[in-house]
Amino acid sequence: MKTISGSRVIYNFTHGMEPIETIIPGEVIKVESNDCFFQQIAREDQVMTEIDYGRLNPATGPIYVEGAEPGDLLKVKILDIAVAGKGVAATVTKEGVLGDQATRSKIRIIDIEDGYATFEGVRIPIEPMIGVIGVAPAQKDGQWPTATPWKHGGNMDTTDIKKGSTLYLPVNQEGALLALGDCHALMGDGEICFTGLEVPAVVTIETGLIKGKTVEWPLVETDEYTAVIASGNNLDEALYAATSEAVKYMMRGLKLTWEDAYILASLSVDLKISQVVDPKKTARAAIPKNVLTAGKIIESL
Ligand code: CA
Ligand code: ZN
Repeated sequence: MKTISGSRVIYNFTHGMEPIETIIPGEVIKVESNDCFFQQIAREDQVMTEIDYGRLNPATGPIYVEGAEPGDLLKVKILDIAVAGKGVAATVTKEGVLGDQATRSKIRIIDIEDGYATFEGVRIPIEPMIGVIGVAPAQKDGQWPTATPWKHGGNMDTTDIKKGSTLYLPVNQEGALLALGDCHALMGDGEICFTGLEVPAVVTIETGLIKGKTVEWPLVETDEYTAVIASGNNLDEALYAATSEAVKYMMRGLKLTWEDAYILASLSVDLKISQVVDPKKTARAAIPKNVLTAGKIIESL
């Protein structure tokens, strides 16, 4: 099995980025993922302002997937996320939902053992997830720093991007050019204080291709639902985009009028917050599988 080294990273998703490795659809690979600080934080007494902000949110890759062409859908099944034995969480002055109350930075190093993170005596089972994962954006969309989520993926900070889930990303460039990083051992929806439990990790994925079908926004399929992940300048914009796609999928997938799909969405779709702390905000509209499966959504694209 191929292992993609965590020393090969990007900080921008661009249309013309150079791949560092080539794989074939169906191939299972391991990807070494750096934490969002590129492991620059090792002690709680470090000064937040002294770290190199040019090295935040490295994404390992890009990986060229043979046969992927614009207009296809890249399927990324997450088989495993093996996290390190400790991680970092921090407040950063003026950041997060309560930025106005966050008057000083504070770093905490948190131990992870036997599947649990322990913080101030509180033991929480970890739920590893991938914060940054994406492909080359469309040429017309320009370039995106890895810190920002958009239609190509990026820093979506979505808790559903976890072991067992399948992510579907729109292919905009030959080879798709997949890159990922910024794993969290734990994060609540929203990423309230600006960080999750930031950890280096080794991610095992299986890629696949769906030819000639694509989506506007990434989709993530969990055991229970398929969620449209959309981003915007604020939560209202993100929720609008996610809902609009979800209703469209229900209309097409279930052959409903738009009005009936809108009603059915109101009865069954959960709107969830992914993150509200990145340069754009991210939300998702989760369509339960008992209403419409991912397979049916993709079939109707
Ligand atoms: Ca992140
Ligand atoms: Zn992170």
